[in-house]
Amino acid sequence: MDDCLFCKIARGEIPARKVYEDNDVLAFHDINPARPVHLLVIPKRHITSLATVSESDAPVLGKMLVIADRLAREQGSPDGFRVIINTGRIGHQEVQHLHVHIVGGPDPVGPMLKRI
Ligand code: AMP
Ligand code: ZN
Repeated sequence: MDDCLFCKIARGEIPARKVYEDNDVLAFHDINPARPVHLLVIPKRHITSLATVSESDAPVLGKMLVIADRLAREQGSPDGFRVIINTGRIGHQEVQHLHVHIVGGPDPVGPMLKRI
């Protein structure tokens, strides 16, 4: 996906504040954090959204969730965090490359977030 923002970040063509990387997954700070801790975890391979995944994507999706707790702890949210995956028009997905938001910090995130 030549023009996809997060593919460009995965390829290193656009800078990001990376916090984790392996062969399949990349995590970096959200450029416009909604909370003191706001990370994005993406598959390096382009997947548009949760609405387009298939069975073969299960391993990478699992990996994205398995590292969430560790990243949240390392980045300053040791007592829990919230995971959000905005999907499609109704879910207000702005970047069309699947990403998991990890939000948290020292204080509770509250019952709902106004903007993610
Ligand atoms: P969503 O509405 O779930 O598609 O959220 C997209 C998120 O990507 C927003 O929270 C943006 O702040 C974030 N974002 C957009 N561009 C960048 C970038 N270049 N680096 C890091 N985060 C970004
Ligand atoms: Zn992409």
